Amino acid sequence: MCVNCGLSWRDVLLLDNAKQMGRKILISGGGRCNFTNQNIETNAFLCGNRHFCKSALARFSQWDFIAMVERHGIEYHEKTLGQLFCNESAKEIVDMLKTECEWAGVNIQLRTEIVSITANDAGYLLQTSAGDYQCQSLVIATGGLSMPKLGATPFGYKVAEQFGLAVKPTSAALVPFTLHQADKDKFEQLAGIALPVIATAESGQSFKEAMLFTHRGLSGPAVLQISSYWRAGQKVSFNLLPETDFIAWLTATTAESPKLSFKNALSRILPKRLVEVLIEHGELPEKNLNQLGKGEISQIEQYLTYWQIAPNGTEGYRTAEVTLGGVDTDELSSKTMEAKKQPGLYFVGEVMDVSGWLGGYNFQWAWSSGYAAGEVA
Ligand SMILES: Cc1cc2nc3c(=O)[nH]c(=O)nc-3n(C[C@H](O)[C@H](O)[C@H](O)COP(=O)(O)OP(=O)(O)OC[C@H]3O[C@@H](n4cnc5c(N)ncnc54)[C@H](O)[C@@H]3O)c2cc1C
Repeated sequence: MCVNCGLSWRDVLLLDNAKQMGRKILISGGGRCNFTNQNIETNAFLCGNRHFCKSALARFSQWDFIAMVERHGIEYHEKTLGQLFCNESAKEIVDMLKTECEWAGVNIQLRTEIVSITANDAGYLLQTSAGDYQCQSLVIATGGLSMPKLGATPFGYKVAEQFGLAVKPTSAALVPFTLHQADKDKFEQLAGIALPVIATAESGQSFKEAMLFTHRGLSGPAVLQISSYWRAGQKVSFNLLPETDFIAWLTATTAESPKLSFKNALSRILPKRLVEVLIEHGELPEKNLNQLGKGEISQIEQYLTYWQIAPNGTEGYRTAEVTLGGVDTDELSSKTMEAKKQPGLYFVGEVMDVSGWLGGYNFQWAWSSGYAAGEVA
């Protein structure tokens, strides 16, 4: 949403095919909207050009958005890792944006699907389900493909292609993994069990957060984060003991209780059901601590700190929080988001080839890029 546009001399009309404003905001963060992150930095954004986001993020930063939230009297808290959530409800953020639109004289028209766009001498002609509209500047903020049931469409990509702008291939990101049948059979009984891990992709990118076993595969923040860096056919490795020096812990536990079974000992630092499944499948030994040899101990350490899974795929756009890829940022000005070869046409938010980490980064990109376009559009 381009509230900032209204502060210029132009008349601004916001068209959206949805019945309700800001539906993704309303359902985000479990209904409390993780609206930004205190630790916004460009490393947290996946984009073909890693410098592209710098300018917009600096000109309307997380601190600018937080200041707006505070001006509207919305109470918020940090949940973890700099992630800011409303104390009460995500609706407060939508109400704040509506108020800002009102103050800036932005007209909002919902239930209006934009069907086609034509460039003409006066700018752009929009054919919509509610009639035709002519505008001088056009800001496309149609989002990505995630959650089609919320009205996501590929419309923005088609507009870009229509005007000869490159669009990077899209895929679901911040999304749970599905498993191959053998792994699914092994692990589905663990559905609901969560544990802290460090998840690492083949690219070397890693995240230290929680992992959750589900009926379909793996989820939880660590998995959602690493899914953005995973490509089909690749493996993901998990350190299942991110807080423990395994060898030091095993040496101390063996000295204290040499006849304790390895299963019972390990269940003190990992979920018991997970330990049982790994032992049932012969991936860990069923022995007492004093029966473990040196070589075996080092193999166990390697297994637990480098637990590898080759996902079968992801749950796709149905449950993905964002879409990787989109309008190639090389086609756009990083200062204004205007298409370099199509004056007056702007792209902001998730429709562009910019995807943030989990934790408020994607909304901040929508706010920052929207502001950049709004200053000039
Ligand atoms: C379940 C879920 C939870 C999320 N939680 C968070 C979170 O807590 N923090 C965070 O930072 N990010 C979160 N995200 C990601 C975040 O919601 C998006 O990155 C952000 O909403 C992108 O904003 P946008 O304005 O680019 O697109 P969107 O918010 O997707 O808005 C696009 C709008 O365009 C409309 N539209 C599409 N095509 C047309 C057309 N042809 N005509 C008219 N209108 C059209 C759609 O109806 C929609 O209203 C979450 C996403 C999901 C799915």
